[in-house]
Amino acid sequence: MFVDKHFSINASQSILSNPIEYLKGVGPLRADILKKELNIFTFKDLLEHFPFRHVDKTQVQLIREITPQTDQVQVAGRLVSLQVLGENRGKRLVGELRDSSGTMELVWFQGINWVQKSLEIGKEYLVYGKASFFSGYPQITHPEIEAFSPEKSEGKSFLEPVYPTTEKLKQKQLGGRQIGKLTWGLLTALTPADIPENLPDKILQSLNLISRYKAYNDIHFPANFNAYQDALNRLKFEELFMAQLRLNLIKSERHRFSHGVVFKQVGELFNSFYKTCLPFELTGAQKRVLREIRQDTAHGRQMNRLLQGDVGSGKTIVALLSMLLAVDNGFQSCMMAPTEILANQHFAGISELVKDLPVTVRLLTGSTKAKERREVLAALESGELNLIIGTHALLEDPVKFKNIGLAIIDEQHRFGVEQRSKLWRKANIPPHVLVMTATPIPRTLAMTAYGDLDYSVIDELPPGRQPVTTVHRFEQARGSVMDFMKQEIAKGRQAYIIFPLIEESEKINYENLMRGYENVKAFFPEPKYWISMVHGRQPAEQKDTNMQRFITRDTQIMVSTTVIEVGVNVPNASVMVIESSEKFGLSQLHQLRGRVGRGSDKSYCILLTGNKLSSEAKERLKIMTATNDGFKIAEKDMELRGPGDIEGTRQSGMLNFKLASLLQDKQWLDAAKQMAQQILEADPDLSEKANERLKHFLQAQKGKTAWSKIS
Ligand code: ADP
Ligand code: MG
Repeated sequence: MFVDKHFSINASQSILSNPIEYLKGVGPLRADILKKELNIFTFKDLLEHFPFRHVDKTQVQLIREITPQTDQVQVAGRLVSLQVLGENRGKRLVGELRDSSGTMELVWFQGINWVQKSLEIGKEYLVYGKASFFSGYPQITHPEIEAFSPEKSEGKSFLEPVYPTTEKLKQKQLGGRQIGKLTWGLLTALTPADIPENLPDKILQSLNLISRYKAYNDIHFPANFNAYQDALNRLKFEELFMAQLRLNLIKSERHRFSHGVVFKQVGELFNSFYKTCLPFELTGAQKRVLREIRQDTAHGRQMNRLLQGDVGSGKTIVALLSMLLAVDNGFQSCMMAPTEILANQHFAGISELVKDLPVTVRLLTGSTKAKERREVLAALESGELNLIIGTHALLEDPVKFKNIGLAIIDEQHRFGVEQRSKLWRKANIPPHVLVMTATPIPRTLAMTAYGDLDYSVIDELPPGRQPVTTVHRFEQARGSVMDFMKQEIAKGRQAYIIFPLIEESEKINYENLMRGYENVKAFFPEPKYWISMVHGRQPAEQKDTNMQRFITRDTQIMVSTTVIEVGVNVPNASVMVIESSEKFGLSQLHQLRGRVGRGSDKSYCILLTGNKLSSEAKERLKIMTATNDGFKIAEKDMELRGPGDIEGTRQSGMLNFKLASLLQDKQWLDAAKQMAQQILEADPDLSEKANERLKHFLQAQKGKTAWSKIS
């Protein structure tokens, strides 16, 4: 239905899709470097290699004017000396720059040879960078520097762009300057028809945006800073808006056309579980989410729902009830967990909960023995088995269902397209999918990153939970921390001690953990105390045994690496000590802390650190001790690290904007969302004349949209 001859413009006809080697001044050799170093393959890529700042060559400061309060400066002067000083790690290149008012130092610690070769004593340079003072002298470390010719910079009508570049590029005469020249050449060759408008006039007018053609010109070569700002705004909005439009299209597409199995009724299993087996009253939020799932699955379109709920908010029971709903309607369900420990635990918990019901549950993981595996697989294929719980082993090819109707993915929002398709291949009609995650992503971000999924949230904890008291202690306080653990253990509670995983070395991790374990043992000697230890190097079976001993209270202390991070549920554990907690990220600390405070006892989380803390680490510890609210922590995490790094959003590919930032450009994001919705509500297929530019643009970007399958 989106097929429309009139619009089937072939993107490859546009001059912008020309290979970069065809641009005047590039050629095959430079093209190679541009491709390797900057991922610039086409004219369009060059056009979208945006400057990160502009230089106003008329704004040159005098060296005398630099004060300790000065931040960035631009000065012009003669290089009067250049020499290498110091040795080994103190080795540096120091230049002296003199203007009419005074002298300053330029310092390089890296690339000394190359810089030395490229500069010439006696020549004039334009220098830019962060000013600092060293023994009374102003200086700039690793300045941006280029030859200065005052006569040339006069009379220019634009600010000069400064582009990201690399040492390699500079050495091949492709520094920021040369890239600017290439871009200038390209822009002069382009006409407005080559950069056609893609936003409807109505939007341009209502938001006061400049045209696309002007924006591409002005973002590189603006006449002044206002012109630059206008260009930036226009392009940021375009990015956000097109992303919103795409997501909304994919979603509505899915809603209108996806085929799903129908769960007609709420049946016997669901009802009798609800009435007789449910050990507690559901929270309002749990009920609401169940209603949403019920709605989704009743109407013949496929559910693709993301369920977010803070640690301990009770997602498992929602999952179980949904699976029973599927069984009531004659379908099988599976539940997939990220680790064997967690799969085992889900299996044990769920088997116990449904033990009085006529429903069959089995477990399948990487360490399921061959004979049992055969049985499980056969029962699954024959339909004798209703529910299966497991790890990624469930996605493997030999796993065949008679009729899978619902798949639940626990604790991983990173359930990519590829995995999804593996699941889909297991049925004629793709099963409903519920992805559950406790890594809270701020709502706005979730809606943007996962805009193509439906979204539910459990924003209420079960009643009676006491917030976990969190404190920060320095290493010196270890003795009193251990004493505190003893008091809690004397009350019949259990405790976790967590050691960090250092990414670089499994060996070091292992050694740290072993040392830590010996240390803990010295504080808690047998036979008064028993300790379980779980880590990544253990065979699954041993992990499981150790975990089981802790669950059954055979041991009072669990020493572990972060393998227990997700999902593990031992309500009697009321103390968590996190070693070297400055090494953990915020969301990980929050996940770990979620392992305590699951029962009705008062719980504690103790963050141990060394004495040297970076300001970011201090900030993290401050937040952890101040709040238990996962969403607040996620917001903060995003602030500290930027959205690109938030667990799970990176892969979504929806957040990789070139210019826009979801944090800083919130008003543009809101505008983009609102406009995208308005437009699609009025014209879901973008078939109206007023929207033809949009349709045209999106169709030219095939592959990025769900439209690839239709147009
Ligand atoms: P998560 O959302 O982190 O997966 P779980 O599903 O493991 O949380 O639930 C945490 C604990 O809370 C479990 O012990 C569970 O039995 C309990 N629980 C869940 N829902 C409720 C409720 N409505 N009332 C009381 N306890 C609940
Ligand atoms: Mg869970």
